Amino acid sequence: MERLIRALERFPGVGARSAERMALHVLRSTREEVADLAMALRDARIETQRCATCGNITLRSPCAICADTTRFRHIVCVVEGPREVEKLESAGVHEGLYHVLLEGFAPREGAEPDAHALHSLRRRVESDGVTEVVLATAPDREGEGAALSVIEALAGTTANITRLARGLPAGARLEYLHGEILADAYRGRRPLDG
Ligand SMILES: [Zn+2]
Repeated sequence: MERLIRALERFPGVGARSAERMALHVLRSTREEVADLAMALRDARIETQRCATCGNITLRSPCAICADTTRFRHIVCVVEGPREVEKLESAGVHEGLYHVLLEGFAPREGAEPDAHALHSLRRRVESDGVTEVVLATAPDREGEGAALSVIEALAGTTANITRLARGLPAGARLEYLHGEILADAYRGRRPLDG
């Protein structure tokens, strides 16, 4: 029990009390549920990798989206994580590729900007013929910080930077938005300076 609590406490945002509650929950779960959780943890770490092109979490690199030759290569949508990719995919409006920043990028406590994700985005703009970079980060503090870092990283390149239309609820995480709202914000995207 002590060992489990100590392991759970290592997760971000989990304090001693939450870790204890989670450990008790594990003890109350069925053996199957616990085996499922253990396998999910193992697979997430061991079976997945980041796509060498877009940085999304994938079983195989390049990921299915980057490998799809029917998608537009010149337009890249920058998102904070894999769940935003899923959300935009289910909204069905973005026909280009993605660039996934992942956590550690946004200025959360103790987190450094992910220089690698920024460098590789700049490289894609400079050598892969990307002409439009759509910022689809959340309209909250972390998302705004991420957007600013991307804008800085792309300074001096020829890419047009656009943003999702305003009208997204302030502080909303993209992953929780209704697909149609997200689709509208995407269609109404506007140049950075507009
Ligand atoms: Zn990819």
